[in-house]
Amino acid sequence: MERSAIIVAGGSGKRMGAPVPKQFLLLGGKPVLCRTIEAFRRFDSAMQLVVVLPTEQIEPWRELCSKHGFTPAHTVVPGGPERFHSVREGLRQVRHDGLVAVHDGVRPLVSTELIGRCFEAGATHGGAIPVVPVPASVREVEGLRSRAVDRSKLRMVQTPQCFALPLLRKAFELPYDPAFTDEATLVERTGTSVHLVEGEEANIKITTSVDMVVAEALLSIPE
Ligand code: C5P
Repeated sequence: MERSAIIVAGGSGKRMGAPVPKQFLLLGGKPVLCRTIEAFRRFDSAMQLVVVLPTEQIEPWRELCSKHGFTPAHTVVPGGPERFHSVREGLRQVRHDGLVAVHDGVRPLVSTELIGRCFEAGATHGGAIPVVPVPASVREVEGLRSRAVDRSKLRMVQTPQCFALPLLRKAFELPYDPAFTDEATLVERTGTSVHLVEGEEANIKITTSVDMVVAEALLSIPE
């Protein structure tokens, strides 16, 4: 079955507080986004890779690629105001009816095995997402009151989220809703449930400067 991946890096990365977007920060001497693209190229050297970037970051990205001698093939498209719009722009570039993985550009440590697991489960179930257990105690807060939540029933959602293309295209016909923080939420609104696959603890989403320190440490672990 034909495969594509949409790597979303269309956010401004405001939470990091760094002068450059977090997807361009150097991790082990290489931009985070280069590592993410390489992870997918390691999995499949020929699949279509669509990278979504903020319009104003497209030129700096090209310069960064040439500075780092980064050559793996990928298509770059401008993103939109929210992740939803950015994924939808990426999706327009995918012309076949096979499978597509949507992956956060800021998850550079995804393994080849996890990408494979998600595509495999996506092919079998139509939609598949990786999840990991919640290690901390969790509370639900409402105003000044809070209550403990049974963490054994909770999972944290990661990417890549893999879907059969007709299913994801149908989901993206829905109007934008702020509740759409990932593609699984959107697909479920169309009445289709998604399959859960085992994620990876090291597949962290680089959001804050602490995450960068953790990612550097994870990268230094010998394979
Ligand atoms: O907003 P959040 O940090 O959850 O973003 C998750 C992913 O979605 C990031 O990789 C980010 O670059 C991407 N994103 C996007 N377009 C936006 C906002 C976020 O591609 N407008």
